[in-house]
Amino acid sequence: MTAFNATLKDENATVALGQQFAQAIKPPLVVYLNGDLGAGKTTLSRGIIQHLGHIGAVKSPTYALVEPYEINNVDIFHFDLYRVADPEELEYMGIRDYFTDNSICLVEWPENGNGLIPAADVQINIRYQDEQRQITIEAHSDIGQTLVNKLK
Ligand code: ADP
Ligand code: MG
Repeated sequence: MTAFNATLKDENATVALGQQFAQAIKPPLVVYLNGDLGAGKTTLSRGIIQHLGHIGAVKSPTYALVEPYEINNVDIFHFDLYRVADPEELEYMGIRDYFTDNSICLVEWPENGNGLIPAADVQINIRYQDEQRQITIEAHSDIGQTLVNKLK
């Protein structure tokens, strides 16, 4: 499976890549977003969600764990599992029910949902490089591969 790599020189570049990514996606899709705090996972998600057609803010779902959007009859679920201490919280919210044939799920801190959320089609890693960021977008399924090919 192949990967897409880029250097993101500032926040605008991250939003722009989110827009490009949004043009290539359709449900069903599971995207894991990996990277340290402040790497740009939510910034990238904002670019994706706004380009899909959401008008208004994209807030970080750190406390709610998930922020739902419905855009053109597609469900977008933006998760932030940073705060999850006990997997039971995820069982309690019925996390599996969000992953449907009609949903695009963007998951920050997926390691905290280990075993309770479906495998990723695409894994995005964002790393600090001084003031810039390095991003890698890896395909982990056929769906993911089709998407990554469109980014080239
Ligand atoms: P995360 O969700 O990974 O914790 P956020 O997207 O919430 O990170 O925050 C990223 C922060 O880093 C923002 O304050 C943003 O302005 C800043 N920033 C600086 N350079 C970049 C870049 N290239 N891409 C994304 N964010 C950047
Ligand atoms: Mg975040």
